[in-house]
Amino acid sequence: MESVNLDLLSKHIDISDNARLLLEHCEKKTICTLTVRVSEDRMLAAEMYLVYHNTARGPAKGGIRLSPSVTLDETTDLAERMTWKTALVKVPFGGGKSGIAIDPGTMTLFERINLIHEYVHIMKWELASGAYVPAPDLGSGPKDMAIIYGETHQLESVTGKPPRVGGLPGRLEATGRGVAHVARLAVNKVLGKSVEDATFAVQGFGNVGSWTARFLSDWGAKVVAVSDVTSGVYNGQGLDLEKLRTFAGRHGELRDALGEKMTNEELLALDVDCIIPAAVENVLTGETAQSVRARLVVEGANGPTTAAGDAVLADKGVKVIPDILANAGGVIASYIEWRKAKSGSITGKEEVFESIEDLLGATFEEVVGVAAAKKTTHRTAAQIVAAGEVLQAMQDRGWV
Ligand code: NAD
Repeated sequence: MESVNLDLLSKHIDISDNARLLLEHCEKKTICTLTVRVSEDRMLAAEMYLVYHNTARGPAKGGIRLSPSVTLDETTDLAERMTWKTALVKVPFGGGKSGIAIDPGTMTLFERINLIHEYVHIMKWELASGAYVPAPDLGSGPKDMAIIYGETHQLESVTGKPPRVGGLPGRLEATGRGVAHVARLAVNKVLGKSVEDATFAVQGFGNVGSWTARFLSDWGAKVVAVSDVTSGVYNGQGLDLEKLRTFAGRHGELRDALGEKMTNEELLALDVDCIIPAAVENVLTGETAQSVRARLVVEGANGPTTAAGDAVLADKGVKVIPDILANAGGVIASYIEWRKAKSGSITGKEEVFESIEDLLGATFEEVVGVAAAKKTTHRTAAQIVAAGEVLQAMQDRGWV
């Protein structure tokens, strides 16, 4: 997984040596061990990582990843992506992330609640001071955020809470809503098609993937394939997303869902207008990108395309809408939730979706404009805009 290539960026914008030094180094990297007594005679231990990449624009914002394979390096990369993502959509946050190296699928609810309590215990200062504002990421969800809120007693200490527990209507769907909207704009602008005439394949059927597919389908698009870690499901006439979401909700996976089965690699190679990797990082590599037949990739996941994958896609003329733009709907909703917590205002779901679409629409246009003006990819254009914001903020604060 590669985040920003500062050498490439400095061909387009002026990055002083001091600014570069700051951007190349994270402000903070912490490793802790969460130890939890889960019964009279059994303890559980998990390594926990907390990274702040850059907080020139505001408190460190970023989700909590629960995954057995999460590492300090991965958490660092994700924190850096948050710096660029929050800057690109101009919400007043910096970039952070935390990761807990544990498999949530193997834990009982009791163990999980205890683990999150321990997380809050270790992170007490970060959460209470507002220096770090977490949200759900891979493997975590609204319930975990509700527990964090319950332990900190501060509504603004965490976003992605359930609506009845101080959360925001629409936050659950927000990232998928944004990915679907950006995909809709991109098929229109890049492929010259309306969403109703376009075909999509979505990898990942968790929070981001399932809502992305659902919204696209609601808007009349043909979503022909979706997948999770167990299997892909295909129907050339378009899948029934409502049925699949109900099935996944009941069974926890897509393995036995009705429809033609396919692997995750086959899904990415489908002859559709647009593929949306919305599961994990590094799935479009120098090798797998060779098989891509879609003309458009919209990155729902963080870092699904490697640098080698990016080069192959560019050679083939496949346009890529980068993660920091495509999946920024989640952090936009988090910002609205955080602001609401501070002001006590009430915000409805449609208003949240409207704000996401307005902000992503304006950002999409800005990125497309910079890409055309600088003759770069959309990824580089998005990074140029984001880096410009962060550099200016570092200057405003007298850091450089
Ligand atoms: P999730 O845990 O809800 O769902 C992950 C999905 O990916 C599941 O369907 C799982 O089965 C599938 N999956 C796991 N490993 C896979 C593999 N090797 N191949 C194919 N599928 C696999 O996670 P999520 O919240 O939907 O996050 C997905 C991605 O989106 C991550 O990269 C995350 O960082 C990013 N993201 C999430 C949010 C958010 O608000 N949740 C916001 C921005 C970005």
